[in-house]
Amino acid sequence: MEDIVALCKRRGFVYPTSDIYGGLTSSYDYGPAGAELLRNIRNLWWNYFVKRRTDMVGLDSQILLHPNTWVASGHVSAFNDPLVEDKKTHKRYRADHLIEAWIKQHPDKTVVVEDLTIDQMGEFISANGIQSPEGNELTKPQKFNLLFETKLGVVEGEKSTLYMRGETAQGIFTNFKNIIDSNRVTLPFGVGQIGKSFRNEITTGQFIFRTIELEQAEIEYFFDPETTDWKTLMDEWKQAMWDFVTKELGISAEHLRWRQHTDKERSHYSKDTYDLDYEFPFGWKELWGIAYRTNYDLTQHANLSKADLSYTDPKTGKKFIPHVIEPAAGINRMFFMILAEAYRKEEKRTVLAVKPALAPTNVAVFPLVANKPELMDKAKQVFSLLSKQFSVAWDARGNIGKRYLSQDEVGTPWCITVDYTTLEDTTVTVRDRDTTTQVRVSIDELSVYFQKKLGII
Ligand code: ATP
Repeated sequence: MEDIVALCKRRGFVYPTSDIYGGLTSSYDYGPAGAELLRNIRNLWWNYFVKRRTDMVGLDSQILLHPNTWVASGHVSAFNDPLVEDKKTHKRYRADHLIEAWIKQHPDKTVVVEDLTIDQMGEFISANGIQSPEGNELTKPQKFNLLFETKLGVVEGEKSTLYMRGETAQGIFTNFKNIIDSNRVTLPFGVGQIGKSFRNEITTGQFIFRTIELEQAEIEYFFDPETTDWKTLMDEWKQAMWDFVTKELGISAEHLRWRQHTDKERSHYSKDTYDLDYEFPFGWKELWGIAYRTNYDLTQHANLSKADLSYTDPKTGKKFIPHVIEPAAGINRMFFMILAEAYRKEEKRTVLAVKPALAPTNVAVFPLVANKPELMDKAKQVFSLLSKQFSVAWDARGNIGKRYLSQDEVGTPWCITVDYTTLEDTTVTVRDRDTTTQVRVSIDELSVYFQKKLGII
């Protein structure tokens, strides 16, 4: 974990937010390499789940929605975490997390933490004398709402409370009528959306795993429960999620598992929920959730807004409120998982063996030396040729060995060196990140060579 965090800062993947002011709790910025990796994850997800399917459309709704959205969805009353406070330091913790940590050290005590009510958590803490990580007494657990509030309006006193969205899903539900009225969609169909959500998380210190500002990639897949079996549909979506993570993101199946939520743990809106967990450096944790939300949300919004959110079957004329299956992922957790999976410390180098299509840069181009104009010109030509099609980095600093090592650390799968032979026969050296072997390829053939390597052709 420490190695990954250090690499992230050293190589421009992730920086602590507002670093010069001492940082901001659970907040991180993405540097040049990180921004590219994030974009690649987003694009892969969007292509895989929205663009390549005939039964999906995309959406980009707002972060700030009408406040009734969150009343109807139940987030204002039920989007809570159990909070305890260290009586001395006043530091806040999640009661369930402290209990989990305590159980790890006391394996003889078995309890399903997810099933405990807030009062039972309080009783468990006091019965077992669980203290804060600083060794102090804790307050009784209280419900802590995760929604961030903000104010709309410039005139003091006339301001109204808005909430920064706690999930992107609600924008899909509130646009359901717009979508069916403006698109030729028929059930079953889904709506996919990627965007920022905000949660006033109490837990800190888990790097980008749990942040107050996060990016979600969510799908609401609408269907008629009388003609589509929800269990079969859920299995199909679970398979699609698994395939995406293993095949598109290159994650080993050994580091993945499904976990079904217990009856008491499930959210208020869900009839069945699974988490796709990844084995992060600090243990198995949720990467992606899938829930059968029934028609809870659309019904709630229809009741509060008085809008007609029903769907009429074009063949039978049957009018009803569709049900949904929701696969909800965190882009930042995928990012973390990809780094954790790809990080390799070898004897003489550190390598980020990410899938080539995900790498922040596909190819790096180097002139052998920077002080020979003919080499610089030729290398710049190669750079411009390839940068039309691929994500290409340029490096003319220091010696070639150092340039290779630095590209290995950001996961660049191939490095091209333009040398004196290039000037004679227009071939360049292509060095492979994983094997470190080098081959000579003609400049004319580079585009096809990399397209093949990336599986585009
Ligand atoms: P957790 O149990 O870890 O708090 P959750 O069950 O509240 O997560 P969901 O509401 O199902 O999460 O959100 C869908 C996805 O959004 C999660 O699977 C996760 O990848 C991501 N996510 C949720 N909260 C955060 C956060 N604070 N920081 C980063 N990603 C998050």
